[in-house]
Amino acid sequence: GYAVLAEGNTAVEAVEAAVVVLENSPLFNAGKGAVLTSNETIELDASFMDGKTLNAGAVAGVMNVKSPIELAVKIMTDSDHVMLSGKGASLFAKEKGLEIVDPAYFYTERRFNSLQNIKNKEKTAVDQDDKKAVFYDADIKNSKFGTVGCVALDKNGNIAAGTSTGGMTNKRWGRIGDAPIIGSGTYANNKTCGVSSTGWGEYFIRSQVAYDISAQMEYQQKSLKEATADVIQNKLTKLGGTGGVVDLDKNGNMSFEFNTAGMYRASMNDKGELVVKIYKE
Ligand code: ASP
Repeated sequence: GYAVLAEGNTAVEAVEAAVVVLENSPLFNAGKGAVLTSNETIELDASFMDGKTLNAGAVAGVMNVKSPIELAVKIMTDSDHVMLSGKGASLFAKEKGLEIVDPAYFYTERRFNSLQNIKNKEKTAVDQDDKKAVFYDADIKNSKFGTVGCVALDKNGNIAAGTSTGGMTNKRWGRIGDAPIIGSGTYANNKTCGVSSTGWGEYFIRSQVAYDISAQMEYQQKSLKEATADVIQNKLTKLGGTGGVVDLDKNGNMSFEFNTAGMYRASMNDKGELVVKIYKE
């Protein structure tokens, strides 16, 4: 992503490039290496937003498109819609010449084992609360959120954000999380900030996490840090949600806020200074 910006390209191109790298790595819960549903299928969600035009694209529940983020960008640039799902999304990807793969391409043994692990624990869960805890524990402990996302600001002051995920281990098939929801998993607006979320998607949808950060900056003149801290540490936490965001404002200030033990994250500023972290400061 940095190389793309250094060559003078746009934030949109940089975010797409960075997310593609992460999707292709089996280490993250997006593209290859994504988590499995309770039916042992892999269903991918992604979204993208351009802060300059407020145009956006999103894809939900695709099973054979190698790069869901590329598809989200194509939906943004080449269709009249914001969100496509399932078979219709795959067909659109094919029409646009994106790479289609066998669903087995996404499969990794590690994620299969995580699913078996969580299913075994589920068997011993006594009530609904217990089941909920098992559902989420598997994702936090095994992966500390493997959803991938990126936000970037280019030299023309344009912000873009993108997010891509396999969702949560053992999710029901057909379940759609926050990652493809504009305003929850992804948001970008040149006036305020760009945001990409990871965490327990249902809470991020109910909290409209990404848009709330932008709205607090716009309507309450809060700084990126203040708005992000309020949304994650105060509002999301009070609701019982867990997770975090990577975000950045129009001046290049960055924030990495999460209410869990860790969140894999990295940043690079305009001087090329790289920071990589997993746990709190
Ligand atoms: N937010 C994603 C979802 O709920 C999962 C994650 O970020 O780990 O689908």
